[in-house]
Amino acid sequence: MDAVLRTEALTKSYKDHSVLKGVDMEIPEGSIYGLVGRNGAGKTTLIRLICGLQRPTSGSYTLWGVLGDSDEALLARRRMGAVVETPALYHELTAEENLTAQYKVLGRRDFDSIPALLRTVDLEGTGKKKVRDFSLGMRQRLGIALALAGEPEFLILDEPTNGLDPQGIIEMRELLCRLNREKGITLLISSHLLSELSRQATHYGFLEDGRIVRQVAAGEVGEDLEGYYMDVVGGGRHG
Ligand code: ATP
Repeated sequence: MDAVLRTEALTKSYKDHSVLKGVDMEIPEGSIYGLVGRNGAGKTTLIRLICGLQRPTSGSYTLWGVLGDSDEALLARRRMGAVVETPALYHELTAEENLTAQYKVLGRRDFDSIPALLRTVDLEGTGKKKVRDFSLGMRQRLGIALALAGEPEFLILDEPTNGLDPQGIIEMRELLCRLNREKGITLLISSHLLSELSRQATHYGFLEDGRIVRQVAAGEVGEDLEGYYMDVVGGGRHG
């Protein structure tokens, strides 16, 4: 399998505070890669680096084999979509109007494809309802629709189930599995809760103390994922 993303000894420090201390990770094409780490482990920082929102202090990464800080990386980034932290939505507009605005930003004119995109994220019935009246789960799914408007092959989601109720978590999981299975999208999903990734991830990267301390295919973990995780990282139990 080819790698969509490969990082090598990636570090990030803020003044004296070293957050990432040499991250080596590899995300295979077609995978659902679960990035697991405690609160404050540096998941968002790592994602911001990969998305080009911040520069690493040292180390490097490639996207489809292209160096992240090269001119060609701009083209590679067009093949990516991301929802980092809270999705940027217009709360006074409907879901369809938000997508129309996003299409315009991207220079897309095929607005008649918007209903299908709304169907993909289970928001087709929202009609005139404004985003301000959406549940958190609906907002998260609309954020994903905005990221999908660029037709990405690689989608990065930072804690997509944060704050969702159990039903919202199930819907999100089903959506992400569908995107992977039906559209062949490679996914990087971060979470501090192992259990939320356990039914979908095909690969895991455990981020601990600024490093990926273990990277493993789900099939190699066995039945007891939590036990496996505890053996690797030690310390307190995770969801
Ligand atoms: P969470 O799930 O709680 O968001 P996380 O794993 O995503 O955690 P990060 O948000 O990447 O963690 O933060 C990792 C560490 O880096 C934290 O100690 C945080 O305070 C620090 N940090 C993040 N951004 C900055 C910044 N701009 N300046 C200084 N420190 C920062």
